[in-house]
Amino acid sequence: MRILVQKFGGTSVASPEVRELVLRKIEKAREQGFNPVIVVSAMGRQGAPYATDTLLSVARSVYKGIAARELDQIMYCGEMISAVVMAGTLQAAGMASVMLTGGQAGITTDDNFTDARILKCDPTRILSLLKQGKVPVVCGFQGMTDEGEFTTLGRGGSDTTASALGAALNAEMIEIYTDVDGIMTADPRIVENAKILDCISYGEVCQLAHQGAKVIHPRAVEIAMQKNIPLVVKSTFSDAPGTLITNIAQEDTSEAAVVDRVATGVTYLTNIAQFKVHLDDTMGSDSSFNVFRTMAESDISVDLINVHPGQIMFTITAEHVEQASTKLKQQGYHIEILENCAKVSVVGGGMREVPGVMANFIEALSRNKIAILQTVDSHTSISALVPQSDVGAAVKSLHEKFGLSN
Ligand code: ADP
Ligand code: MG
Repeated sequence: MRILVQKFGGTSVASPEVRELVLRKIEKAREQGFNPVIVVSAMGRQGAPYATDTLLSVARSVYKGIAARELDQIMYCGEMISAVVMAGTLQAAGMASVMLTGGQAGITTDDNFTDARILKCDPTRILSLLKQGKVPVVCGFQGMTDEGEFTTLGRGGSDTTASALGAALNAEMIEIYTDVDGIMTADPRIVENAKILDCISYGEVCQLAHQGAKVIHPRAVEIAMQKNIPLVVKSTFSDAPGTLITNIAQEDTSEAAVVDRVATGVTYLTNIAQFKVHLDDTMGSDSSFNVFRTMAESDISVDLINVHPGQIMFTITAEHVEQASTKLKQQGYHIEILENCAKVSVVGGGMREVPGVMANFIEALSRNKIAILQTVDSHTSISALVPQSDVGAAVKSLHEKFGLSN
């Protein structure tokens, strides 16, 4: 059986007109001999009546601190509505279609409500529907614990559902349909002349996604990569070929041009705070270690870490500032906090050992008088912390400097 997973994001299921376009994509897959498995997100974006954010605000309007378990129960409704509407659309077109929740589709998770992790994915029920010639329409973003509790997989989690099903079903390919023609060299909302990438490696797209490119969830990429299943990011609204995500190293080496580029894309993350912790000699040799242990025990992940004699710097997301600062002050640390920062990153598998990459990076920001608060680099990326008010200018100037605008 040739299985194709087709995932449709929020804007792709938002209106009857768009759902007709989705229907065409599914019909086309069937004409090509595939057995499609459909995954859908909740309909529309913030403000739309059944969008995830709208449902969250209903629950939080009752009580701001409402428990994560209750948030999952209300968020579940978004994908349920969307999947019922999509299954109905297929049935109206004469296609036998069955709507399934995440749990019914075989996805078991842990009980970390609002950010659950998939523990296993049992494809039995979907396989039996496919054998009967039916089209399963699965609610993205959802899972179920062994005890039958509803869970959700974190924002962007429908991509993860698609990959988990693709892996469990040994799909030939996973298609992620959205509102842009593919993965671009930068967020098109910031860089007008951002280009569509025809082809990108799992590793590069994971980096782009972790560093802020919200076009695909990094977990989805990691799962597809484990089974070497090609992922394609493409538009519901066009016939453009999209971006193929594969293990490029295994592809035909005539694709050398792709591998040779120094930079693949520029990304950014906002709402970051920089912490400077001053250590004095009286605090003992464990003091820097203790700072990080305190963060870990509070479940706060730290990024952009620099440890110097007498001073530690690191960044955390804005939501954790109050908690982190209280904990550290309680332990007697003297801290300085700089809020409203953003992290800009240039990502590229071809960056390894290319001289002058850091020089170009710094030059692009300095020329535009953008303050560099901290930097970090790896073989395949360079990042800097900058004031949030400069994030747009920083992304644009790096995009230009690294030749991505041509
Ligand atoms: P969906 O609801 O279909 O999952 P998302 O909003 O999660 O859609 O992802 C698509 C959006 O990601 C695009 O509309 C685009 O604005 C944004 N985006 C951010 N960075 C990039 C990038 N590098 N390439 C393409 N799109 C990007
Ligand atoms: Mg998404």
